[in-house]
Amino acid sequence: MTTYQEFIQQNEDRDGVRFSWNLWPSSRLEATRLVVPVSCLFTPLKERPDLPPVQYEPVLCSRANCKAVLNPLCQVDFRAKIWACNFCFQRNPFPPSYAGISEVNQPAELMPQFSTIEYIVQGTFPNTGARVMLFIGGPPTQGPGMVVGDELKTPIRSWHDIQKDNARHLKKATKYYETMANRSGSEWTQY
Ligand SMILES: [Zn+2]
Repeated sequence: MTTYQEFIQQNEDRDGVRFSWNLWPSSRLEATRLVVPVSCLFTPLKERPDLPPVQYEPVLCSRANCKAVLNPLCQVDFRAKIWACNFCFQRNPFPPSYAGISEVNQPAELMPQFSTIEYIVQGTFPNTGARVMLFIGGPPTQGPGMVVGDELKTPIRSWHDIQKDNARHLKKATKYYETMANRSGSEWTQY
């Protein structure tokens, strides 16, 4: 028997996403009373070898201020070829390329095991603003993004070291983080 906490933990491990709340507020009033805003911590570029990237563009909710992505929690009317957005309840027709959709012929984004999905199509959301915040504690000491070794006798570089181009690891780490930022910003979207 799995407890609710274990269920949440399994989902976090699987999708690399942790939410401040695991339920949406049921009304605007309830939303205003949240002591912590609805937010999520999310693992960029999380490896999911069991779920290959999908090689076509995501299907978006047609409501202009929603644009949520079709996902396994949306209700689907296979006969009418319509899906209901699970964020704003807008009913959306499937695009023409989904004409063959049926209960036994479903796209990957409707399958429950695709609780997270990677679209590598570039420029799906050009010029769309977003904010990614990274919360870290302490300097990285391992891997290509390291800025200092893990021996305590080695001090972390100071601003003057950086300014005088005398900071070990700096160039390699900067290149690594710039590459990651570009990849995150331009190459994929994830829900
Ligand atoms: Zn919507």
